[in-house]
Amino acid sequence: MKLGNVESRLAKNSYEVDEGNTHIEVNQEIARATGTGKVLTKICPAHVYREEADGTISVEFAACLECGLCFQMAAPGSLVWHYPEGAMGVRFREG
Ligand code: SF4
Repeated sequence: MKLGNVESRLAKNSYEVDEGNTHIEVNQEIARATGTGKVLTKICPAHVYREEADGTISVEFAACLECGLCFQMAAPGSLVWHYPEGAMGVRFREG
């Protein structure tokens, strides 16, 4: 069975987006002071984090794959992360 590249495989996922109820929040001050913001923009496989021109980190939480990597790598206090509420969030489809 041919799996295809990562982008095409991820495109099979579907999402139930909890509009206006983010499950990810960045403490901009701590993220900037610790360098966590730059780490987040590099490690997230879904490119949820983006550094804006003024140095703040924006979050496109709807694209989150719920892998938990950012939560593991972030400096203490720089990130609030939890699973989306109820049945919201990513639904993986493979094959
Ligand atoms: S949990 Fe994974 S996919 Fe979601 S924002 Fe963190 S690193 Fe990105």
